[in-house]
Amino acid sequence: MLSASPMAASNHFSGAGTSFHSLFDNVDAMSIQGYLADGTVVYWNRASEQIYGYSPEEALGSNLYDLIIPPDLLDVVRASVKEMFETGQGIAPGRLELRHKDGHLLPVYSSHTVVRVPGQPTVLFCMDTDIREIERTEGELRIAAVAFEAQQGMVITDAQGLILRVNQALTRATGYTAAEVMGCTPEVFQAERQGTEIFREAWLAVAQTGNWQGEMWCRRKTGMTFAAWVSVNAVSDSNGRVTHYVCTQTDITERKLAEARIAQLAFYDALTGLPNRQLLLDRLQQAVAECVRQPCWGALFFIDIDHFKTLNDTLGHDVGDDLLRAMAQRLNATLRKVDTAARFGGDEFVVLIEQLGPSAAEAAPRAQAVGEKILQALSQPVRLGDHHYQGSASMGVTLFSSQACGVDDLLKQADLALYEAKAAGRNTLRFFDPEMQAAVSQRALTVAGLREALLRKQFLLYFQPQVDTSGRVCGAEALVRWERPGIGIVQPGEFISIAEEAGLIVPLGRWVLEAACQQLARWDKDERTRDLTLAVNVSAGQFRRAEFIDHVVAAIQGSSVDPGKLKLELTESLLVEDLDGVVAKMAALKALGIGLALDDFGTGYSSLAYLRRLPLDELKVDRSFVRDVLVDPKSAAIARTIVVLGQTLGLEVIAEGVETVGQRELLVEMGCQAYQGYLFSRPLPLLAFERFVEAAWREGDAPKNSAKPTDWRQ
Ligand code: C2E
Ligand code: CA
Ligand code: CA
Repeated sequence: MLSASPMAASNHFSGAGTSFHSLFDNVDAMSIQGYLADGTVVYWNRASEQIYGYSPEEALGSNLYDLIIPPDLLDVVRASVKEMFETGQGIAPGRLELRHKDGHLLPVYSSHTVVRVPGQPTVLFCMDTDIREIERTEGELRIAAVAFEAQQGMVITDAQGLILRVNQALTRATGYTAAEVMGCTPEVFQAERQGTEIFREAWLAVAQTGNWQGEMWCRRKTGMTFAAWVSVNAVSDSNGRVTHYVCTQTDITERKLAEARIAQLAFYDALTGLPNRQLLLDRLQQAVAECVRQPCWGALFFIDIDHFKTLNDTLGHDVGDDLLRAMAQRLNATLRKVDTAARFGGDEFVVLIEQLGPSAAEAAPRAQAVGEKILQALSQPVRLGDHHYQGSASMGVTLFSSQACGVDDLLKQADLALYEAKAAGRNTLRFFDPEMQAAVSQRALTVAGLREALLRKQFLLYFQPQVDTSGRVCGAEALVRWERPGIGIVQPGEFISIAEEAGLIVPLGRWVLEAACQQLARWDKDERTRDLTLAVNVSAGQFRRAEFIDHVVAAIQGSSVDPGKLKLELTESLLVEDLDGVVAKMAALKALGIGLALDDFGTGYSSLAYLRRLPLDELKVDRSFVRDVLVDPKSAAIARTIVVLGQTLGLEVIAEGVETVGQRELLVEMGCQAYQGYLFSRPLPLLAFERFVEAAWREGDAPKNSAKPTDWRQ
């Protein structure tokens, strides 16, 4: 075994001369180690300690394989060392990962030389350079190279802003190759449409802060433009001097399209492409604000397609959609670009027109003219598939200026005017006026009052006698009254339709039903009133409710009344929709033993076809025919027809609104069996009604034919 002392290594070097010795010892970045064939360390310079962590004292005399060779390289290194000692040649230099004293691996670039000195043991010298730093830099360069060829277009310019390089993504996006734009400024990519300010602004920002980003219109070589998100970053050297600029460019056309699509969805109606409610409200708000800035009047139009629901129900939704689209097109064609036509929902459109004039007096006739033009356009025939449809529309208009109330109120005003237009027979326009507003406020008060009235039980029933041909009181119609505190008795004409619209007819109707049944139960205890029937009015909105039958059953059971004495008066308006459902419900009521009358007969949706299907007991000839029966032959003919119809169908016929003897006599002659009207009595409060019945009863005790019809006149 050779001596493994450091001295031995030094001796070994003496042949190479001291200058080399000290050179090797002090060379900085290169670890130089010497090994004997069995791996014994005979030389270990200072740099070796830096790289591998072992001091010369620790390393010398130890073994290569124990020091720096990781276990998985042992065999390979042994084989290489053996080969080198055998051939006397160092193997090719290369990268290795060797072990540091503390166990971690480090990459080194290793080359080898075998030194044979006669008379001395052969030594293998290994020269290792730590390449960690180099590898790190290489890695970064690789990353930079990959990043440069990323999806984003990149341009690198020199400090003067002249293009040095562009990446492939940029070439793909713009069509320009690096060669074509080298030496140009990035402005070559700029679209003409945008002007030069943005570039100035960008360079200024870069000069001040080192970077800028924003949207720009860019241009392809073909001239086509596209929206891009551009960022510019200055690259500075260690002295802070700008050496390069890196500009990136991302095509955001797709994103802009997506944004536009989202905006389209959010602010435009999908069916017609018109602005939707949201956008209209926004523009209206702006319009009102604009009026403050620059005093002027504008107009808001609410438009409703007449009979749209019927068209939709009869011809189908597709045809309905076609009509809406056609109407939207016409609106657009009639209006100027600056006006807004919006679809507000369903068959409702809203038009907003600004700058109609400096005063209401000037704006109003202009608004009227525009409105008429719109109505005219909307009433032109439309081709809907195989159909030619002559539509029409109703329109409510309200004017606004700087003193305008809120947007909500404007909408309400226009809506209200629309309501008036429809009430006026459609295909027409109405302006909002303050009186209308007063009526609306009044209405709101009534609704609030009705709610309270329901809680506080402020309703009561009046009873109007119904008499037969012999003048005997056979029953009564219950007519509701509202005893309004501070006001007095309010007639149903003033609150029933409001209750219907406010959804209060259901609780109100239920109260009437219950009160009527309780009354019948009380009358049952008196022989004079025991045989009376009581008719109760039922609104369509009440009848349609699923729980209606339950309410009727509850009222009957709650009072243990004979259902045969209760009569429900229904109107033809019920029959407009879902006839089958209505018939089924009526049959269920009939099965309970309740009588059913058709009120106001002859005024509504009169079709003989449905009449046959309804399980009715009675027709009530509407009072408009009775009123005119003596003066208008048509009314007389209708009254006569109704009586005949009733006889044919086996129904009773009662005439309501009989005010004169003449009317009564004619109706008697026609064959009508029962009467109700002021001729006999007005609707009466309970006590008065009972007195009336009592009086009639006393008279009825007398021989029957002595009763004279005129006796019932009050
Ligand atoms: P209606 O069902 O047609 O009731 C008959 C109306 O004609 C009553 O008006 C009655 O006072 C009036 N009338 C009776 N005889 C004559 C007459 O000879 N000449 C004239 N000109 N009128 C006569 P009222 O009590 O004001 O009721 C009006 C309407 O209010 C009723 O019309 C009915 O539709 C509704 N109504 C009344 N009570 C109720 C109710 O409890 N529920 C529902 N849903 N509606 C009711
Ligand atoms: Ca009635
Ligand atoms: Ca009636």
